[in-house]
Amino acid sequence: MAGDDLKQEIRQKCAALDIPLVGFAPADRWDTPLFDPWIPPEFRPRSIYPEAKTVIVFGLPVSLPIVDSAPSIWYHELYKTVNGLLDQHGYRIALHLTSRGFPLIWVPRDGYGSIEILKERPVAFFSHRHAAFLAGLGNFGINNVLLTPEFGPRVRFASVFTAAEISSDPVMEEPLCIRCMRCVDTCPVNALPGQEYPLGLTNKLTCAARSEALNKRALSPCGICIKVCPVGRDRALYRREDCAVYDEENPGATGLHRSWNHVRTYGSW
Ligand code: SF4
Ligand code: SF4
Repeated sequence: MAGDDLKQEIRQKCAALDIPLVGFAPADRWDTPLFDPWIPPEFRPRSIYPEAKTVIVFGLPVSLPIVDSAPSIWYHELYKTVNGLLDQHGYRIALHLTSRGFPLIWVPRDGYGSIEILKERPVAFFSHRHAAFLAGLGNFGINNVLLTPEFGPRVRFASVFTAAEISSDPVMEEPLCIRCMRCVDTCPVNALPGQEYPLGLTNKLTCAARSEALNKRALSPCGICIKVCPVGRDRALYRREDCAVYDEENPGATGLHRSWNHVRTYGSW
């Protein structure tokens, strides 16, 4: 089967699974640095699965009105649900293509066992954010998260490495981040230095410590730097274009704040 036909088949499979974002990157794209510091060789697809020729990256959104309540039990549960779906979808796509005779492996959405492990060594064995970037699904914001035109940073990714050669998608050149600095200003632990990625890397230990504290209260992940980001067409869908709704002293958003406070009052500590 030609690369374009296989790409079409995978897109159809993703559509059948209600996966809104899917992109394709040649595995050797990891070998040409696009910024500095770049992905070390041992973290690249061909180091992990030497047969890899194409990386398929797919993304599922987290619903903005639920993220709006973050940190909350509501977002905590949504996050778990999306993570479970990402893993199931990755597994099913891998199963489908393997049965069609295309060797491949699937990489689950996270590559660490606990926040304690992350604090000890704050990197996973493979970065889906970078894979999504290289597969043309978006580019990095000041919040260090991959921003997408559809959902801004409110999307999570997983990847499949295949030995099949599939036509690729171009890397997105035009920056999506508008440098509004809302993410930097609202981070409760000042973990974002406010410079362009990758110059301004998140203080991962500070961020992980907050996540650990929230997790003990059934409130992780934090979610603040992704909810306040104005990028993403989901904001128009949910009529949340005005990010001033998050300001505490916004009389026009009293009802929203009352709703979020209600959600935060129950089901978590
Ligand atoms: S997740 Fe929370 S603590 Fe971490 S950088 Fe974003 S706002 Fe800051
Ligand atoms: S909140 Fe503003 S500065 Fe931060 S990533 Fe989004 S657009 Fe960029």
